[in-house]
Amino acid sequence: MRYPHIPWLPLLFYPALPVFAAAGLLLWQQWPPALTQIVPFVPWVMTLVGAAICLMYQRSQTLALMLSVLAAVALWPTLASQAPWATGPALVWWSLAYTINALWAERSSLLLDMAARIGLMAIGAAVIALAGQEGMAGLFGTLAVQGVLARLGLPVQALAALLLTGLTLTLLLLRYGRPQQAGQWLGFMCMAWALPRGAQHPLELAVMASAALTALSISLAHEGFHMAFRDELTGLPGRRALNERLQRMGRVYTLAMADVDHFKAFNDTHGHDVGDQVLRMVASQLRRVAGGGYAYRYGGEEFTLVFPGKTAVEAMPHLETVRRAIEAYQMRLRDKPARPKADQVGQRRRGGRGGRNSRPLRVTVSIGVAERGEALRAPDAVIKAADQALYKAKDGGRNQVWAYGARRRAG
Ligand code: GH3
Ligand code: MG
Ligand code: MG
Repeated sequence: MRYPHIPWLPLLFYPALPVFAAAGLLLWQQWPPALTQIVPFVPWVMTLVGAAICLMYQRSQTLALMLSVLAAVALWPTLASQAPWATGPALVWWSLAYTINALWAERSSLLLDMAARIGLMAIGAAVIALAGQEGMAGLFGTLAVQGVLARLGLPVQALAALLLTGLTLTLLLLRYGRPQQAGQWLGFMCMAWALPRGAQHPLELAVMASAALTALSISLAHEGFHMAFRDELTGLPGRRALNERLQRMGRVYTLAMADVDHFKAFNDTHGHDVGDQVLRMVASQLRRVAGGGYAYRYGGEEFTLVFPGKTAVEAMPHLETVRRAIEAYQMRLRDKPARPKADQVGQRRRGGRGGRNSRPLRVTVSIGVAERGEALRAPDAVIKAADQALYKAKDGGRNQVWAYGARRRAG
């Protein structure tokens, strides 16, 4: 599933660090001899580290990709020297296997899943080996084009396979935008650059494979971090992230609790899916709050906005703006033909009237605001105060912003 509203570029940042380090190493011409001896072992070490993380998170997909990178770096120089005819087909198969693994969703059993993936990769390798010098060499040799490709010994099919994989991974990254896809994309780019040159430059291949394996490991750790700190439904940081943030707050800040009005009615009337759509809409409006505010999903249909360094008086106008934006939002229901039972229930409750989804939904939120001060020092006390103000806003008729201790609504 995709996290809403998470741009994919920051996802590439952390896994790209080892790739930059590897590029720096390659630019550095005079390696000390010790480094030359260590480098060939690094991919093995990184595979062990990565495999441990994969087992911890039950990630057969990334584990299979790591093993394919390790297999490439370990076998490539031997393959290139003993069976040069096979490098083209092997490159094609390696690239296609990477694509298949990246597209192949994880199954429940790690063991069965891994067996199937490794089996698939092995079958491809066996087919290449069995096809033998004659057939394959003829097929790939005659089609190899001149110029740069020929100098790299890269048949046009191999180049096509690399491009196809690169394109598929780019589409996956843009579509799903999760850390895992970013790591897979970077890992492949490292290998696509290093593998075709690997026969002449085995150390370069080892360095880039190490970067690829590290990028894959980092992206898995990043994925775990996202799972713990991001709310899956709205893409906002969740309660745990809020708690961490509140520990690192300065002496001045303002906190607001926002709660969707009559939210239970959306669920009861239109079904849980529509309730989820409402939460996503509210989250996307809250995320745009101005005045240096940050939005979090506190839980259920409750959200928290934090304004570091701002007093309640400074934050209020921005909260009022968000409240109005949500009130004014024309939310049309997305018509999903396959919407489950909940919708039928909703229709029955509306007396089976036709023309469903024709009217826009009106969504409003109530907001309670409190600022840290002498009387409210601890974050918990500030949250409690904002909650009290929120009750006032609800009592006052909802769809309004109230400050803690105020006698009337803001705005
Ligand atoms: P009020 O105006 O007083 O806030 O009324 P309300 O109906 O919004 O308040 P209440 O706390 O009674 O209802 C909250 C509902 O939110 C109950 C629960 O089923 C629903 N809910 C909580 N989390 C989710 C979610 O992730 N998705 C959906 N669709 N519903 C959720
Ligand atoms: Mg509530
Ligand atoms: Mg509510």
